[in-house]
Amino acid sequence: RAKDEGGGEHRPYESTLHANAEERRQLEGSLRKALENNELLLNYQPVVDANRENVVSFEALLRWNSKEHGFVRPDKFIALAEDTRLIVPIGAWVLQEACREALNWPRNIRVAVNVSGEQLIEPDFATTVVHALSNSGLEPQRLEIEVTESIFLRDPNIARAALEQVIALGCTVALDDFGTGYSSLGYLRKLSFSTIKIDRSFVQGAAQGSAESIAIIRAVVAMADSLEMATTAEGVENPEEAEMIRNMGCTKIQGYYFGRPMGAADARHLFARQGQIRA
Ligand code: C2E
Ligand code: MG
Ligand code: MG
Ligand code: MG
Repeated sequence: RAKDEGGGEHRPYESTLHANAEERRQLEGSLRKALENNELLLNYQPVVDANRENVVSFEALLRWNSKEHGFVRPDKFIALAEDTRLIVPIGAWVLQEACREALNWPRNIRVAVNVSGEQLIEPDFATTVVHALSNSGLEPQRLEIEVTESIFLRDPNIARAALEQVIALGCTVALDDFGTGYSSLGYLRKLSFSTIKIDRSFVQGAAQGSAESIAIIRAVVAMADSLEMATTAEGVENPEEAEMIRNMGCTKIQGYYFGRPMGAADARHLFARQGQIRA
């Protein structure tokens, strides 16, 4: 049987490689047209204050509903967009769209936008942010830029300079997925991050009783506290995890338990439902 399926002239390994390259080429072609075809949209996931559990911000999360390929997973098409630098125009659109949508929320609610290293090293990144703010009229204080540690690998000085420009505008910068990349505490000294986002893998580990995960979360929270940075626990999925995270002193929580990524209309409705009391 094995011989029938895999042996002989079929060479499944090579044909898989070929299929992947071909699929990738097709995806790339479609992604190039995704913006003009209006196939991109943003979802918004609430971030709550760990103690009061009121919404303090929404993170904008990009979605692609492709005519040719249907709904494509973000980790797949965002990696492709980064490789092809299509993330530069797409990311500019995300900034515009997120800032515009945030104007529909109560004024104390902020919006967080993910930004890739490829965007940061464009010489006009700060200008892109300025345009998103001025075209929408959003106060800079309401915009947070989320970056991961990976931005410091290739062009650390350019990335840092770009983020400093954005901070000078009045925006804040959060360090996303903390602990998963090539973590170096040196990064924390080089830039004034407002928030450290503790990766979901540590929250999951802690929930399963991992002493290492618990120790790491505690250490990150203690360090963030003394650096006067906030902490957000990512991927909190149930009340037990929320309670655990709160007891460990994280200041903010994000995860399915408090809200999944939702369409813009649902995010607006959240405030209508809550009568803006918790907001
Ligand atoms: P991220 O910035 O760390 O976003 C959080 C991811 O965790 C989101 O995945 C979100 O849907 C997911 N998540 C939130 N709460 C939970 C939970 O309780 N359980 C589980 N299992 N997952 C949870 P998503 O939307 O698939 O995005 C994946 C990544 O893609 C993001 O990770 C971010 O790095 C990137 N991304 C998303 N939108 C953009 C964008 O506009 N620009 C750029 N450059 N990257 C983006
Ligand atoms: Mg993020
Ligand atoms: Mg994250
Ligand atoms: Mg991530």
